[in-house]
Amino acid sequence: MAKTSAEYAKERYRILRAQKKCVQCGKRDEDTLKGKWRCRACADKFNKYQKNLSKERAEAGLCKRCGKKSDGHGYCKACRQYKAERYRNSK
Ligand SMILES: [Zn+2]
Ligand SMILES: [Zn+2]
Repeated sequence: MAKTSAEYAKERYRILRAQKKCVQCGKRDEDTLKGKWRCRACADKFNKYQKNLSKERAEAGLCKRCGKKSDGHGYCKACRQYKAERYRNSK
């Protein structure tokens, strides 16, 4: 059976993780050796991207998490419920 691209991606992640390499660029650094998924450089880039994304979404009145229309509180109803549940379960 042919593998889907998602399965290939998973396989690639698994291998990189097993070798303690960054899943983004394949480099190994202090952070990936500690068990992180990304090296310092990629984590920085990723965080910046995430931050920008949520800022842009918030400014556009969209849910910060999924990008759907928010109900005016930064998140859509479904995501707010999800977050509330996560919060409850984490206690
Ligand atoms: Zn990297
Ligand atoms: Zn949402």
